[in-house]
Amino acid sequence: MTRCIVLKCSEIGVHRIPKDNKIRRLWLKAIRREDLIPTNNSRLCRKHFVESDYEKISKYTGVEHQHKYLKKSAVPSVFAWNTQPVSEKAKARQDRLKARNLKKKLLFEMPSTSQSCEDIVPLKRR
Ligand SMILES: [Zn+2]
Repeated sequence: MTRCIVLKCSEIGVHRIPKDNKIRRLWLKAIRREDLIPTNNSRLCRKHFVESDYEKISKYTGVEHQHKYLKKSAVPSVFAWNTQPVSEKAKARQDRLKARNLKKKLLFEMPSTSQSCEDIVPLKRR
């Protein structure tokens, strides 16, 4: 069994790196391994491809393949570094917003004593 060669990916690799030089270069660029010299064991898992990268219907018989075939021109495009940072950033923003709203709420609910005012100041600076 061969592991996917994409960094930080530990899935089982199923797609061999194409022999076509042009496509091969695109793949290596996409997986950020331009220094890699692919062998027959260098494979990628299905996670890095989108639905449209696969050929579903056989050109000859019109019968749907039982196994999905990767199109000859398909290039992997789904990677942790493409998807995660964006969503995590968005999540962090949401969390910050939530925290800010919570702080506001606390400010309103705080009893107006001189003690609590001193507590608020360092929070605002953060
Ligand atoms: Zn993978």
